[in-house]
Amino acid sequence: MKAIGPKLVIATHNEGKLREIRDLVAPFGIECLGAAELDLPEPEETGVTFIDNAELKARASADLSGVPALADDSGLSVDALHGEPGIHSARWAEDETGTRDFGRAMNRVWRVVEAAGPDAGHDAHFTCALSLAWPDGTVESFEGKVHGTLVWPPRGHNGFGYDAMFVPVGHDRTFGEMDPEQKHTISHRAAAFEQLVAALR
Ligand code: IMP
Repeated sequence: MKAIGPKLVIATHNEGKLREIRDLVAPFGIECLGAAELDLPEPEETGVTFIDNAELKARASADLSGVPALADDSGLSVDALHGEPGIHSARWAEDETGTRDFGRAMNRVWRVVEAAGPDAGHDAHFTCALSLAWPDGTVESFEGKVHGTLVWPPRGHNGFGYDAMFVPVGHDRTFGEMDPEQKHTISHRAAAFEQLVAALR
C-alpha cells in the first residue's frame, strides 16, 4: 500500500469519530487535519454499504485538499431490526429539521426492539469502514466489527452516538462507561484501524 503522511485529512465532521481517529493515529506521528477545520464539505452519503460511503467521503476530501484522506463510515446494526439502523445510524438521530440527538436515537432503537418482542433478543453489532484515499485516485478500505448486547436505560457519558446502550461481548460495562483507552482495545473502529496499519506495513 502507498505510504501516508506527513499530513492526513480526517474526512469527518463528527467530533466523536474525529477524537477516536486522532487517538488511533497519534502513535504514528502523522499530522491530522479535520475536514471541518479545512472547510471541506460533507458529501451526501449515497452508498448502500459502509465501505461505499467511507470511500466517497475519503475520495471527496482527498480530491479537494490534495492531501491523503481517511474517512470513517460506521453504525449500529440490530439483529431484531434486521440490521437497521446500520448505514442510517446518523439519520435515526435526526428530527424534521435535521438536528441530531442521540438520546432520541437510542430511545427510538429501544422502542422498536421492545416492539419486536422478547424472542427477537437484544444482540447488535457496530461496524466501521475506514477508507484511505490519495489525490492520485488510489483508495484502500478496511472493515471492523464488534458484537454485543443492547441495554436499557443508557449508561455512561463517555464516547458518542449509541455507546451508552451497547455492552460489548465479554464485558459488563457499556462503551459509554468505558475509558476511551479501553474502547480502543475492542472497538469496531480499532479493529478496522488494525487492518489498515497491517496493510501499511
Ligand atoms: P456516519 O458514519 O456519519 O453515517 O454516522 C454513523 C453514526 O453511527 C454516528 O453518528 C454514530 O451515531 C453511530 N456510531 C458509529 N460509530 C459509533 C461508535 O463507536 N459508538 C457509538 N455510535 C457510533
